[in-house]
Amino acid sequence: MAERLPRQPRADPLEIVELKRLRTAQPELASAIDMQIALLDMQRRVQSRVPLPWIQIDPEWLRSQQAAGRPLVRFSDIPLDWTDFRLAFRQTSDILRRFETLQPGDHQTIVSLTRESHALEPIVVRWYEATSGVEGADPDLRTPKGAPDALDHVLLLAMRPFLARCPEALAQRTDLSAWTYGRCPYCGWEPDFAVITPSADRRLICGRCLGQWRHDPLACPFCANNDRARITSFATHDGRYRVYACDVCRRYLKAYDSRNAVRSVLVSVDTIATLPLDAAAMQRGYVG
Ligand SMILES: [Zn+2]
Ligand SMILES: [Zn+2]
Repeated sequence: MAERLPRQPRADPLEIVELKRLRTAQPELASAIDMQIALLDMQRRVQSRVPLPWIQIDPEWLRSQQAAGRPLVRFSDIPLDWTDFRLAFRQTSDILRRFETLQPGDHQTIVSLTRESHALEPIVVRWYEATSGVEGADPDLRTPKGAPDALDHVLLLAMRPFLARCPEALAQRTDLSAWTYGRCPYCGWEPDFAVITPSADRRLICGRCLGQWRHDPLACPFCANNDRARITSFATHDGRYRVYACDVCRRYLKAYDSRNAVRSVLVSVDTIATLPLDAAAMQRGYVG
C-alpha cells in the first residue's frame, strides 16, 4: 500500500498574509481584519468556480456608451450561477451578522429572501440595472420598498466574486481612454479607493467590481470639482497612503501611493489599513 504523504497546508494568499501581519502591528483593527479575512475566504471559494466570461463588445456600442457616460457590463454578461450566488449572499449575511455589522432583524429579513424560491433573482437583476446605469438608471428601483438599507451592502459583497470577473476579462482588450468620469466604466459604481502609479497617474478602483481606470490626478470623482484650491490632500507620515478630500461635495477618497512602495496595491488590505485615515477625514467634516 502506498504511504500517504502528509498533506501540505495550503499557503495563505498574499492578502491574507498581509492582513494577519497588520493585525499584529495594529491590534485595534483586529475585528475589521477578521471580518475582512472571513469575507475574502468566502469570496475566493465562490470565485474559484466562476469562469472568465467572454464578453462581446461592438466597437460602435463601446464608443456610444463611453460618450454617454454609460458603463459596459450588462447583467447578462455577468457569469452568475444562481445556486452559487444564493450561497454567497447567505454567507455574506452571516459573516456581517457575526461581526455585528448587520442588525439581527435585518439579517433575518435579508436571509429570508434566499428561502422563498425565486424571490432573490428579480431583486438582484433590478438592483444591478438600477445602479449600473448601462441602459440608463432608475435609482428608485434599487431595492424593494421597505427592504433594510443593509441589503445594498450584502448585494454588493455577494455579487463581487461574479462581477469582478468582468473587468478581468475586459481590461486588456478594451480601450477606455475616452472614459473621463468618476464612476466605474465597467459596472457604474463609485470608486472606493485609488492607487498612485509609479508614473504619478491616479487610477481609481471600483468599490463593487474592483475594476480600475485612469482619472485626473486631483479632481474629485464624486462631483467632478477640479479646482485644486478646493481639494484638500494629506498623506500618512510614512507617505504610503493619501487622502483627497473635496471641499465642494465634502466627500473623500483614499489612495495607496505605489511610488517607492515595496508591493503593489492590495485593496482588501489597504482599505482596512487606512481605517484610521477615515477617522481623520471624518473628524475634519468629510464623508466617505
Ligand atoms: Zn465597477
Ligand atoms: Zn466633490
